[in-house]
Amino acid sequence: MDELVEAVYSALSNVIDPELRLPITELDMVGEITGNGDELSVEIKLTVSHCPQSKYLEQESLKQLREVFPNATVIMKVMSKAELDELKLKLRGPKKQNPFGQGSSTRVILVGSGKGGVGKSTITANLAVSLAQSGYQVGLIDADIFGFSITQQLGITDRPTRLDDMMLPPIAFGVKVISIGMFLAGNEPVSWRGPMLHKAIEQFLTDVYWGSLDFLLIDMPPGTGDVAISIGQLLPNAKALVLTTAAKAAALVSVRSGLAASKAGHELIGVVENLSWLETNGSKENLFGSGGGNQVSKELSVATGKEVSLLAQIPVSRQLSASSDAGRPMVLDFPEEPAARVINSLAEKLSQLKLGKESLTLNVKLST
Ligand code: ADP
Repeated sequence: MDELVEAVYSALSNVIDPELRLPITELDMVGEITGNGDELSVEIKLTVSHCPQSKYLEQESLKQLREVFPNATVIMKVMSKAELDELKLKLRGPKKQNPFGQGSSTRVILVGSGKGGVGKSTITANLAVSLAQSGYQVGLIDADIFGFSITQQLGITDRPTRLDDMMLPPIAFGVKVISIGMFLAGNEPVSWRGPMLHKAIEQFLTDVYWGSLDFLLIDMPPGTGDVAISIGQLLPNAKALVLTTAAKAAALVSVRSGLAASKAGHELIGVVENLSWLETNGSKENLFGSGGGNQVSKELSVATGKEVSLLAQIPVSRQLSASSDAGRPMVLDFPEEPAARVINSLAEKLSQLKLGKESLTLNVKLST
């Protein structure tokens, strides 16, 4: 490589593609370089003409080049079909496949509850953002096909960018997210039978470019139906977190959902109790009963023969709800709020989770 080309590549290696999260120099997006140090012109090749990051890539490339070559200009182009095919091959290998199968180094965590409305999506979204804020590469699949709400909770209005049959997931607060909500017009209901649901989950795993993830969180649908069975087949190494509320009725259903996950071969990481109490002026009121989390932990421990600890109790928090409604998970702006502290400490516990079957249990318990 001659000196000029080397200097151009060095400057442009600072430009990171926001969707692929790699330097554009590693994505073969740098085209023809013409001129010399005084009159330099560099082609930047977008993956697709409708690339939503086009403006950003142009401005950032210009900025980085002009640090070294003050008169540099940038010409935006689009990759040819052959160049795009080459890039897809580089990113995902010769065959489309589920990247989270045997040998994957991603910790896959299913968040399930049994009942709807217990705060599963809210907690999953906050956990994902909390892990991303700690520097982990995090993906989130909204597998609650009928009751999807993750896009709204994370304020996502973008759709995945399509590179032919490959999709780049929108990224919110550092989390790569995919949800059926991104493929529907408005608030359209989804009434699909099992095979369609299986296909959707499969595509979320194989057609989406996830890159290398530390964590993949899955917001499970309530119940033990088709999606849960498909996930059992497609993600045999996933571990499950069981969410309940303090109420006895929710606890009974959560036990069933935990047992179903265990039957499907997923190790149970632990139990999380949401809506545990409302604290006002230092006094705690059990709005929805008490003991649900402990009950689920005990019953699942007996049934599976392994300790399934109660890992967290999340209080009722108006801010948690308001932040989710505003599309900015609470852990971002209110980390000192009690509910956010509990969620951040739960994320910290999850980050200690090891891969592999030997280290099935988390050696941390609730410390209250
Ligand atoms: P699910 O995914 O289990 O159906 P959601 O996450 O959609 O439930 O939560 C249901 C409602 O409860 C939402 O309005 C959410 O903001 C609210 N919520 C969840 N957890 C809490 C909490 N700890 N305190 C206050 N509101 C909560």
